[in-house]
Amino acid sequence: MFKKGSLLILSGPSGAGKSTLIQTVLEKEENVYFSISTTTRPKRPGEVEGKDYYFVSKEEFEKDIEEGMFLEWANVHGNYYGTSLRPVLKALDEGKLVLFDIDVQGFESIKRSDLAPLATSVFVTTPSMSELEHRLQMRGTDTPETIAKRLQNAIEEMAYMKEYDFILINSELSRSKEQILAVAKAARLKRDPKEVEEFVGYWKTH
Ligand code: ADP
Ligand code: 5GP
Repeated sequence: MFKKGSLLILSGPSGAGKSTLIQTVLEKEENVYFSISTTTRPKRPGEVEGKDYYFVSKEEFEKDIEEGMFLEWANVHGNYYGTSLRPVLKALDEGKLVLFDIDVQGFESIKRSDLAPLATSVFVTTPSMSELEHRLQMRGTDTPETIAKRLQNAIEEMAYMKEYDFILINSELSRSKEQILAVAKAARLKRDPKEVEEFVGYWKTH
């Protein structure tokens, strides 16, 4: 009856646990698609091209901006990050729940786009800034300078927390996993108003 999928957007400070929680949804839920972003930041050890990100040069990224390839893009911590429009539309047409790990600027862009009515948003963060610093250090993928930059950026991002539908304080991981799965199930029930109108028309005649 309803054919279009929905969007589930995760934002929050780098190191809060977004990738970990997205991985859980990918493992436990069927019919989901992770929107693989394109970035100009260097690949971290263990990251895989075409799975975590598409890693490109600044020139390639700027060409894609000019050609209108992105649903949204932003400069985060001095690097470009962007979401390609076409695979997202394809996954939505296939009725999938599309997962996004994007920053607060990307979320604001999607909120202004035609896809906004289909989107559920979650802000993921740690119980405190010191816990965030600890996680970034434990992850062991960033230099001290990068960690300092990410912490500074985190303070700015926290100001947008109140704009989100749901707040997930990622303290105990097993509980956070349950919470993200509950939100993912609910997010599927967000519907395109055009499809809702069609349904009402059908409903009245059956
Ligand atoms: P993000 O995608 O938001 O940058 P990650 O998912 O990479 O964050 O998580 C950052 C680090 O914190 C990783 O090493 C991850 O294993 C760890 N982590 C995630 N959730 C928790 C948690 N609830 N408690 C402790 N460590 C966590
Ligand atoms: P990281 O370098 O830790 O993978 O990501 C840094 C930040 O960029 C995170 O806040 C993440 O959500 C954000 N990000 C990743 N991909 C995109 C994207 O396609 N668009 C936007 N706007 N932000 C993104």
